[in-house]
Amino acid sequence: MAHISGHDRSQVLLLPASVDDYVDANNPVRFIDAFVAGMDLGAAGFCRTAPAGTGRPGYDPADLLKLYIYGYLNRVRSSRRLEAETQRNLELIWLMRGLHPDFKTIADFRRDNKQAFQSVFGEFVLLCRKLDLYGRELIAVDGTRLKAVNSRARNFSKERLAKFLKAADERLADYLARLDRTDAEEGPVSRARTVDLSEKIASLKRRRERYESIKAELDRLGENQISLTDPDSRGMATAPKVGVGYNAQVAVDDKYKLIVSVEVTNEGSDLGLLAQTACQAKDALGVETIEAVADRGYFKGEDLKVCEDAGIKAYVPRPQRGPAVRDGFFRKDEFSYDPSTDTYQCPGKQELHPIFRSTAKTEWRRYENPAACKACVLRTQCTNSSPHRQVGRWINEAVLDRMEARLALRPHIMKRRSEIIEHVFGTIKQGMNQGAFLMRRLENVSGEFNLTALAYNIRRAITIVGVAGLLEAV
Ligand code: SF4
Repeated sequence: MAHISGHDRSQVLLLPASVDDYVDANNPVRFIDAFVAGMDLGAAGFCRTAPAGTGRPGYDPADLLKLYIYGYLNRVRSSRRLEAETQRNLELIWLMRGLHPDFKTIADFRRDNKQAFQSVFGEFVLLCRKLDLYGRELIAVDGTRLKAVNSRARNFSKERLAKFLKAADERLADYLARLDRTDAEEGPVSRARTVDLSEKIASLKRRRERYESIKAELDRLGENQISLTDPDSRGMATAPKVGVGYNAQVAVDDKYKLIVSVEVTNEGSDLGLLAQTACQAKDALGVETIEAVADRGYFKGEDLKVCEDAGIKAYVPRPQRGPAVRDGFFRKDEFSYDPSTDTYQCPGKQELHPIFRSTAKTEWRRYENPAACKACVLRTQCTNSSPHRQVGRWINEAVLDRMEARLALRPHIMKRRSEIIEHVFGTIKQGMNQGAFLMRRLENVSGEFNLTALAYNIRRAITIVGVAGLLEAV
């Protein structure tokens, strides 16, 4: 029996198949087409939405936007690969109606419209709201480190430069000492060694000069580190696998794990980044109040106060840090505060009173009871350096107390946080293969990440309501 075979390539078909026949009703390209067609690209900030009156006609930004949304949805992000796909991929031939922009046009479009991609992402969030895909009660906020177009070898911190210079000086001293010894010897072998050492010394001096000039540039900029390929990228100490990159912050809704807001920074740490992302998410969801959960890396009093003032009930566990924790003494959370008397009760059941010594800068008040500490049998577990134990209290610490009380009532919320957020990062990095940026500079990678988040949300929404459901809502 013969295998199933296609028709002869040279055969003339009586009724040629139309390109539309190759794209079924549930193909995501049909949604991309309708979604972009329904947008006001001029209002979204795209360039050249109205064709110029003179000159060679340019591509419609709508077509190039469709191409990029398709590409990010299908793990094709490079402009050269997108150009190739427009010629051989039937879905793209359908979506682009046979247009084949060259890679430079495709790349320039992404570079020139980087800020407008945020509006496209926002437009899809509105569509998801219309479809009731957001629960709008609980969001999880977290950050992931994504590689930049900058190798570790081209990123220098002050500490790294100091280490390089010290090592170069030591090696130089060693080469010079060996050169002196070799010079004293006679014969062809010593002459060859002299030449070899002289070359090494010259090369080392050139490298040393380069490090010195980078150090001078760092001093001039007043920065702690510098990246030579992508100047905005930074060493991500908490993510050694990433090396040099950016920190992409996302807020994800609990109901269907859809992204609500994104923000890319070059901060190595998440500290102080909660309020910004959570407030953006709250605005995008159009609610008066919302709950936000984040890991202990986000615990910063001032940030949590901003959240509370904005109507965001935060859940962030208090990290165990500070000198008492380091030295193994009673931790701050083992002292209970009584707001009615404005006192702390210590593990020795003594009351610590405020001493009203605060500075305007830190807004901290200290509590103590020297007499009780003097006679206390637990003193060795409580303090060693000071004559008595002091406990500090921030002027807005009631915000943190309220948050701890909320956390105590919902002990499983941190597990829920991981379930919400890990799915998103896993899908973006593994499923969509978008764990590294292709562009340089912060504003460009922000545009890129908005496209990544948009593609993630489209994938997720298709899984939940299907292409037909999305088409109905457009
Ligand atoms: S040393 Fe002072 S603060 Fe510490 S447990 Fe004893 S009385 Fe309380």
